Amino acid sequence: MSFLSNLVGSFSQGAADNPTVAMIEAAFRHHGLDWRYINCEVPPELLGDAVRGARAMNWAGFNLSIPHKVAVIEHLDGLGESARIMGAVNCAVRRDGKLIGENTDGKGFLKSLEEVVDPKGKRVLMFGAGGAARAIGVELALAGASSITVVNRTAARGEPLVRLLNDKTPAKAQFAAWPSGFAVPAGTDIVVNATSVGLYPDLDARLDVDVASLTAGMVVADVIPNPPRTRLVRDAEARGCRAIDGLGMLINQGVIGVKYWTGVDVDAGVMRRKLTEIFGV
Ligand code: NDP
Repeated sequence: MSFLSNLVGSFSQGAADNPTVAMIEAAFRHHGLDWRYINCEVPPELLGDAVRGARAMNWAGFNLSIPHKVAVIEHLDGLGESARIMGAVNCAVRRDGKLIGENTDGKGFLKSLEEVVDPKGKRVLMFGAGGAARAIGVELALAGASSITVVNRTAARGEPLVRLLNDKTPAKAQFAAWPSGFAVPAGTDIVVNATSVGLYPDLDARLDVDVASLTAGMVVADVIPNPPRTRLVRDAEARGCRAIDGLGMLINQGVIGVKYWTGVDVDAGVMRRKLTEIFGV
């Protein structure tokens, strides 16, 4: 095997401090894998060239960040099921000489969630309708969530996500407007924050939710990786809910990506330690 076939990386724009690089390289070192993960700054107009370069050099695959997640699709040979439904790819994988697009954001979230609860047959309430929410909503639907309520500040973004879930997955989805102090309905099993509220440096930003409506039977999952202990995570724990931080989603998308590229199951704990060191948490 040539060295370049042991190469993976990220095509991003202006993300030289991408923590994924350190996280994945730490896993490679820990497992004695002679692999490299490199961050490549790729301007949108050169994305096709970058993909052709990766093909020419026989890379095992690469991650994609904004603004490349949709634009990359025309340069790939095929899509995994959830990436096809979402219309977004964050991870390309070389399989039998073809580059296949997957989306590991939602799969990473699902893996974290499944460590705590099986979403099959569960009622989900999800705040947000951006890229992360789309990925999570589709994976939850494919994993058998029975109902998904999308709550988003902007209906023009929330309603198309609901249509996508209803049209392309077996889940039943509905849109709910977001009044101030939104009360999570009784009977909700899983609450997801897929908005950017709480992301560093807005450490004290609080999701506009009635905290008293979070009850002990609920699982509350946040996508915010930094800081991992967001106000929502702390509020949910104080209410007796089981809470899941966004670091798990970030780590697990890395674990899944490395498995796709190398075939090796890496130790998530090694990745978590590296990220907590970087984030200083
Ligand atoms: P987008 O910009 O696509 O979407 C942002 C979402 O947040 C929209 O639904 C937006 O609502 C909502 N939002 C933003 N500010 C507010 C506010 N003040 N009040 C209510 N809603 C708000 O971003 P992404 O979906 O790509 O990312 C969302 C978050 O997920 C980011 O913080 C990112 O760090 C995190 N993420 C974490 C990952 C992980 O591995 N842990 C992976 C990917 C993302 P509206 O439509 O009304 O503007």
